[in-house]
Amino acid sequence: MPRPIEALIHPDALAHNLQRARRAAPDAKVWAVVKANAYGHGIERAYPGLQAADGFALLDLAEAERVRALGWRGPILLLEGCFEPRDLELCSRLDLWHTVHREAQIDWLAAHKTQKPHQVFLKLNSGMNRLGFSPAAFRAAWRRLSGLTQVDSISLMTHFSDADGARGITDALAVFEAATHDLPGERSMCNSAATLRFAPGSAAVRGDWIRPGIMVYGSSPDFPAHDIAHWELQPTMTLRARLIATQELTPGGTVGYGSTFRADATMRIGVVACGYADGYPRLAPTGTPVLVDGVRTRLVGRVSMDMVTVDLTPVPRAQPGSEVTLWGCGPNGSFLPIDEVAHAAGTIGYELMCAVAPRVPVSVA
Ligand SMILES: *Cc1c(COP(=O)(O)O)cnc(C)c1O
Repeated sequence: MPRPIEALIHPDALAHNLQRARRAAPDAKVWAVVKANAYGHGIERAYPGLQAADGFALLDLAEAERVRALGWRGPILLLEGCFEPRDLELCSRLDLWHTVHREAQIDWLAAHKTQKPHQVFLKLNSGMNRLGFSPAAFRAAWRRLSGLTQVDSISLMTHFSDADGARGITDALAVFEAATHDLPGERSMCNSAATLRFAPGSAAVRGDWIRPGIMVYGSSPDFPAHDIAHWELQPTMTLRARLIATQELTPGGTVGYGSTFRADATMRIGVVACGYADGYPRLAPTGTPVLVDGVRTRLVGRVSMDMVTVDLTPVPRAQPGSEVTLWGCGPNGSFLPIDEVAHAAGTIGYELMCAVAPRVPVSVA
């Protein structure tokens, strides 16, 4: 028998969440963001749930090839654009749309020979200070691009630094509007947080294309302020394993490396076939939520490479073989949001779903 751990992908939930994004911005087209191998879900596994998208956005050219290999004929956008001039060959061959965020990318385009002009997304730096032209340089970049025979249409994009937090998008939106108000072309601004929090109230925020990522994968972009139930999202990934042993602790007994957890009274603990080498966060402390047979309980002691230990007090009937839900969907309609586990471990849902290790077998529910 293989080691009892697996990840499950839920295509119906992906489709539901994508639809949820569309409902927040019904007049906009939707880029389903599938970078990082569809946020760890696997592009090929996620694709059946995401075919209602208007396009796929990602940043690795090999991933773009995989989306084309699945038969997708619609738009694909490279969110970081080309990394070197010869990437433009692939853009021409596979009809990839690409972001232009710095001057050299315009130089490469100007020297590129292509039969079919490209669809370009010109990126403004609205305050994140990672990629994009400054407001002062934006217009000149637009003019240069618009003079190239290699360019068909120029869309205008930016990426918000604070769509999920208290600062919000007001300042960045003002920067974007000042830099673009008299330029033609489609607009794209919203990631998941902006889509859920700000798109419903403003056509100017929605623009022509939204770019939801994390919400499609059933994680709340502004947890713990709001959870996925609040945003009407469904979990798209389950990580589950089984108990492989149980132990009785006597008062004063400890568990795991460093003996960080000490029992006050007699208690039963379960040993789970999942550890940090499976992608479970090593920094998850005692108290991190977990389900055993669908019943909510807690981690106790340190996460080790191949095992975690859990408190069986609320589940006295649990035995080796009992199902353990690390996150996602458990038995009898139970579920544990990935955001709760991430929060307990001091990280975000994005990191956990991207980190599921290659040794974990993945299947589609
Ligand atoms: C990753 C990414 C997104 C999606 O962000 P989420 O927070 O996952 O919704 C949108 N736009 C760009 C440019 C990105 O890099």
